Amino acid sequence: MNYQNSLTFAIEQDRLDPLKDFRNRFLIPQHHGEDAIYLCGNSLGLQPASAQEYIVDQLSTWKNLAVEGWFQGNDPWLSYHKQLSSSISKIVGAKESEVTVMNSLTVNLHLLMVSFYKPNGKRFKIIMEGGAFPSDQYAMESQTRFHGYDPKEAIIEIFPRDGELTLRTEDIIQKINEHASELTLVLFAGINYYTGQFFDLEAITRAAHIAGAYAGFDLAHAAGNVPLKLHDWRADFACWCSYKYMNSGPGGISGIFVHEKHFENKELDRFAGWWGYREDKRFLMAPGFDAAKGADGWQVSTSPILLLALFKASMVIFDDAGGIDTLRAKSIALTGYMEFLINNINEQFGEEIFKVITPGNQQERGCQLSVVCKKNAKAVFKHLADNGIIGDWREPDVIRLSPVPLYNTFQNVYKAAQQLAAAIK
Ligand SMILES: *Cc1c(COP(=O)(O)O)cnc(C)c1O
Repeated sequence: MNYQNSLTFAIEQDRLDPLKDFRNRFLIPQHHGEDAIYLCGNSLGLQPASAQEYIVDQLSTWKNLAVEGWFQGNDPWLSYHKQLSSSISKIVGAKESEVTVMNSLTVNLHLLMVSFYKPNGKRFKIIMEGGAFPSDQYAMESQTRFHGYDPKEAIIEIFPRDGELTLRTEDIIQKINEHASELTLVLFAGINYYTGQFFDLEAITRAAHIAGAYAGFDLAHAAGNVPLKLHDWRADFACWCSYKYMNSGPGGISGIFVHEKHFENKELDRFAGWWGYREDKRFLMAPGFDAAKGADGWQVSTSPILLLALFKASMVIFDDAGGIDTLRAKSIALTGYMEFLINNINEQFGEEIFKVITPGNQQERGCQLSVVCKKNAKAVFKHLADNGIIGDWREPDVIRLSPVPLYNTFQNVYKAAQQLAAAIK
């Protein structure tokens, strides 16, 4: 796209935007009586305007049917989660049987490690990206310790080359090959939360498998943000949260993917609970765990229906918008515009005040740009906040800005960039 640094251009792009009406389906936070410019969907997505109605519906079912709500009404709770499988499977590129919703993200990561972290003799090591989201680091540390290993020995982190900010796929593959004989798992984020780098998950999966290891992904920043093809890539497992790009509300329900190639494997351990029992026989309450087919068999506890209802409100919007590929086209244009405007500011001031550390290649990033601010970073961030621009701050000097295609506009991006420039002036 041929970008221009002008309000007229931004207005025209918004007018042409096929997704422009979807913004009205969200509640936009207010700043001095006007819509704030919300660029923080990487942390917490906005509330669908319909969310309240979805909750009230379920409260009514509870009120009117009480326990019969599990089996009666328009959407019986017992199978409520299945209403979400189709939308989710499209978002992560899976078969419906390969995904389910349950628990929260870090809990699911631990549960999946029960199945897929199987250290055995010389093979006990995990490769991760250096600087992974802290919760994932803590989860991996505690998992290796639980199995009797020293995390310093069992976890191999990969860092960018000297003078570089993000990882090269060739270096990831090289590291996997190097450690092939002692590796049991490659666990990567889909998109790194700090740099915004979108990893080549297909190449990583292939290398892991050649090394004889499993490949698992934490898609917290990728699901609902970039198109994924977990099934075709043959990833072994994945999990994600839905409160970032999928707008399901604070602490919203998490989801998991298990590739169908593992469905018949009786050797895979899992921490079972009655909700993972085959549905047709669950209420016989018989001894001996008999797993439901597919990812559903990893469920443990009774479905939290109110969380599922919030998630459904959001998934309906995703489906109406035409799915992740439609969103991605606008996302690329919006984030590209943000990058263009930031480069413009640097040119205007004759120096690189704002350094975008997220890869410049569209294929290696999603919505988010992580911007190092080389001058008075804290004050610049405060200026944005004071002017109704909501981004987020990461120590020591990084501002993350994420234009989200469902509810952000070209004018949002234009105005945010104007305030970045004004802060420097
Ligand atoms: C947001 C995020 C989490 C958060 O985990 P919760 O269990 O939902 O608190 C974990 N991992 C990554 C990579 C994240 O981006």
